[in-house]
Amino acid sequence: MKLAGRVALVTGASQGIGHACALALAREGATIAAAARNREKLDELVAAIAAAGGQAAAFVIDVADEDQIKSGVKQALAQFGKIDILVNNAGIDTIFSVADMTEEAWDEMLDTQLRGTFLCSKYVSAHMVERNKGKIVTTSSVNGFLGGPKQAHYVAAKHGMLGFSKSLAIELAPHGINVNCVCPGAIDTPMSQGIMASKDGEWLGELGALTGPWNLFNPEAMLESEEITQAILWLSSDASDFVTGSALVVDAGFTIK
Ligand code: NAD
Repeated sequence: MKLAGRVALVTGASQGIGHACALALAREGATIAAAARNREKLDELVAAIAAAGGQAAAFVIDVADEDQIKSGVKQALAQFGKIDILVNNAGIDTIFSVADMTEEAWDEMLDTQLRGTFLCSKYVSAHMVERNKGKIVTTSSVNGFLGGPKQAHYVAAKHGMLGFSKSLAIELAPHGINVNCVCPGAIDTPMSQGIMASKDGEWLGELGALTGPWNLFNPEAMLESEEITQAILWLSSDASDFVTGSALVVDAGFTIK
């Protein structure tokens, strides 16, 4: 097991990539502090990890709320004694042109994705610095490199995560802490399913016309969350000890066209 004895705090763990990531890290021996806004699904995840012989606990943390982050990190440290790995994964997506985007929609996106990454990293890295050890992995996106119609807020947040992580990586390298991003392409999760099933589904058609296929191996298929968790797992493990400030793209060739 690559992560035996480690403790990982995963945000947005109740579904999608975060849920798969929590399971994958637990399979490699990590104890999981599973965080999201919704307790019910977290309890199911904790039970699944326990049933497989692992250890986990649920922490309700809204990453848009600094007080909840502070107290959630404190509770996780009180329960498990340390945090070796932080996965900043919680996120939302909404579809608005800039002309139609309200300040509230902008703030909700930036507060969840970018401010949440900043604050979770701030409070967890303070503890990691004391131990001179740690791994921070943030789920950015191919939208960390590329623009997209009706996605200016999401794209700004995802670009911001890359810049934030590079800067934090410089600050934390002297403390033995690695800070990296994983950049998924189109992944089959409740987030993407929700968009496809909504009135915004047609937006995906617009996007497809602009970008071409999302998956060069199989244009019909989206990637699964498990493909991303393999990258997060590697960036959380000793195997990537000399990788920092990087953006690992897992997109089935989407961005090379
Ligand atoms: P999802 O909607 O399936 O899951 C999102 C998770 O984040 C849920 O657990 C939800 O409860 C949590 N969350 C949302 N807002 C939160 C908040 N304020 N506080 C705490 N938790 C919150 O989404 P997903 O597709 O699994 O996406 C996970 C991450 O991957 C996101 O950052 C997303 O932007 C990114 N991403 C997704 C795709 C994709 O195609 N699905 C592609 C690239 C990047």
